[in-house]
Amino acid sequence: MTVTRRQKPATAPSSPGRPSGPESEVHAGVGQRLASIRQRYTGGRRLLVEALIRAGRPLTVTEILDVRPALPPSTAYRNLAMLEQATVVCRVQLSGEFSRYELSEELTRHHHHLVCVDCGSVVDVTAPARLEDDVTVAAKEVAAATGFRLESHRLDLIGHCQACS
Ligand SMILES: [Zn+2]
Ligand SMILES: [Zn+2]
Repeated sequence: MTVTRRQKPATAPSSPGRPSGPESEVHAGVGQRLASIRQRYTGGRRLLVEALIRAGRPLTVTEILDVRPALPPSTAYRNLAMLEQATVVCRVQLSGEFSRYELSEELTRHHHHLVCVDCGSVVDVTAPARLEDDVTVAAKEVAAATGFRLESHRLDLIGHCQACS
């Protein structure tokens, strides 16, 4: 039996959570962020970042360990906490389930999530520019009215995925 390493197709369909630039740019950004808190970009941390790049959607720790079985869970948890502290990853909070992790939007790109209430799947999606413009205008109005200093927004669409409906 021949074991072939799965090659990344040259024309991979673009997924919102995936970095727009080459993976090396993401890794460079991760290295800088870790260095800024005096941490090294170790092999274990790289494995986590690679898993998140390839998934292109927020992953639970269980899902990360499924694709990175060589990583002991304790190491994965410790490194995820450090990557979170370095603002490389952020936790995606969805009610009633385990935390999911994704790469910071500054390392990838701005996106939203489709959350299925039946199977719990979470998919990254890029909103049409029209929606982003409207949300931005509305958010600025709310911020101005409440004296809130706005940085960004989050918007999850909740419903039933294609497989579940
Ligand atoms: Zn579903
Ligand atoms: Zn948005």
